[in-house]
Order: sequence, then structure tokens, then C-alpha cells
Amino acid sequence: LIHPWNQALYAQLRSTPLPHAVLLHGPAGVGKFELALALAQGLLCEAPIEGQACGTCDACNWFQQGNHPDFRRVEPESRDSADKSDEKAETGAETKGESPTRSVKRGGRPITIEAVREITAFLGFSSHRGGWRVAVIHPAEYMNTAAANALLKTLEEPPAGVLLILVSHQIGRLLPTVISRCRKVHVGLPETGRALAWLNEAGVENHAETLLAEAGGAPLAVLALADPERSSLRAAFLDQLARLPQEDICQLAQSYQSMTGEVHGWLLRWVHDTLSQRLAGKPRYFLDRADDTARVARVSDLTELLTFQRELSQAGRWLRHPLQPQLLLESWLIRYAQIAGARK
Ligand SMILES: [Zn+2]
Repeated sequence: LIHPWNQALYAQLRSTPLPHAVLLHGPAGVGKFELALALAQGLLCEAPIEGQACGTCDACNWFQQGNHPDFRRVEPESRDSADKSDEKAETGAETKGESPTRSVKRGGRPITIEAVREITAFLGFSSHRGGWRVAVIHPAEYMNTAAANALLKTLEEPPAGVLLILVSHQIGRLLPTVISRCRKVHVGLPETGRALAWLNEAGVENHAETLLAEAGGAPLAVLALADPERSSLRAAFLDQLARLPQEDICQLAQSYQSMTGEVHGWLLRWVHDTLSQRLAGKPRYFLDRADDTARVARVSDLTELLTFQRELSQAGRWLRHPLQPQLLLESWLIRYAQIAGARK
């Protein structure tokens, strides 16, 4: 599956000889990973049609079932599945060759040196089917330093017939030495009209425009936002945020402590919107909360808002497993309440 807005990019990539390593980078939610998979399947397909996978040959069938012997993908485990399967990973059950997905997943959150070594060893073998060997690392910035260094050797002396595809949402977090050894391909946001048309076909009919704005223009991110349960949690949080500092901060932090990452995202967007109201007279993300952010913009101090925004952005780095999520949320909310209520 190649998203419609990435079709031209795919054709462009296939129209020239491929290098040994491609780095697909751009914002999250624009279909980079799907593009990487399409590229891989297109190369492995045994009867491609105009550079695209046929979808019906043996190779395509294996690929679609996650069984192609000349393909590997490495991803960090998601937090939920990692928590469930930590025990399994520790006993080595995940490392058996029969893993149906053929993906190299390890218990740790980052992509580890072991996972990368498995990939580089795989790329060093000869092809089972006499064609390409392809590996996808997604997201590449999840490689820790040791893993990235292990990958460098392969990037410096790539075996013949190999394509390594790195997918990155945050290219700034990759080692410059890794970046410089890949062909960089930017996958950008689709234009709004196109994204909305696609969302409509994907069944997102209500508030698609508002959601797309909240997602920063990334259509795939909208699908998560449109989830009804998540929508109502977000709405409830923003309602309370708009009423701060009267609301009980401790209570609010307690109810949302299991969603630190999401709250962080909402708060960051909210502060961005408030600043944007102040500077440009309109919000960027929460279009349906324009009145609230405009009101906060009127009463808060610009410098303090900017400082808070910077602190929040930096906090994003160590967010994955806060030791005390409730305290962390509380500290943000208290800070925010002070700023938003400063001149009341
Ligand atoms: Zn095929």
C-alpha cells in the first residue's frame, strides 16, 4: 500500500538506480513506513508491474504474510506489547527463527545492537531467491549509539544486492555519520485537500479538518485522534485545562497519569496555539478551542509562555517512562496554571 500522496515519490525512487541505503524522513503520520514496505515488496516481487509489486506472486505472498526469506524489519516494541512480552523476550522465546512476522523485536525500548547485528548478518548472507535482500529499520532514531555504530560498518561497506531502508520521524536524532551514508528522501505532508479526501475515504467524516489541524497535517495521525475513546478523553482534558487554575490540578494529574505522552502532546499544542493566538491571531492545532486559547493568550505573559513551551519540548525526550507520572503532570499543570492565571 502506497498512500496516494506518496505515489509520485515512489515512482521517482524507482526511476533511478537505488543506492544501498535510503533514509526516508519526515513528520510522523505521512506514510513513510508504508512507503518503505512498498519499496521493499516492489524489489522482492518476482513479477513487478511498472516497478510496483504485483501482489500475487510467491514473493508477494510471502512478503504479505511476513515470511519473505530475503526481508527483515526491525522495530522497537511498543510500550504495551513490550510490557506483555518482556518475560517472553527474556527467555529467548522471541528469538526463534520461526517467528511468524520475521521481525527482530527485543524486549528493550530502544533498537539494540543485538537487533542491528542480526540485520547486518542477514544482509551479509546470500539471497535465498537470487534477488535483493532488504531490511527496514523503523524508526531509525530508536537505535541507541552502540546499535547505530554497529550499522555504520554495513553502511560503509554494503554487500552487493542489498537495500537498507531507514525510516525516521526525527532525523536530528540520528548520527550524522549514519545520515551521510544514506540517500536522504524527504516524505512531506500532503496538501490539505488531498489529505481530507483520503480521510473521508478512510471513514473520518466528522471534524476531519479540525483533526487534521490537530495532527499537524499528518493524515495517518488523524486516525488515532479520531478514535472515539481517545477523543472524549482529550475533550475532557482540554475542558479542564481551559478552566484552570480553578480545577483541582492534583485530581486532573491523577486521572491522566497513565497517558503522560498524550497529555504532553496536548499541552504542547495548547501552548503553541496560545502563542500563535498571541502572535498571529489564530490557533494552529485545536481549531475548535480558538476562544479558549485566545482568552488564555490575553492574560498570559509571552516570555513565560515561550519559556514553558521550551521546557515542555525538552521534557519530550525523557517522557517514555517517567518515574512519577502524576508528579510530572502536576508540575506541568501548576506551571501552566500560574502562567494562564497570572494576570487574572
Ligand atoms: Zn509480486
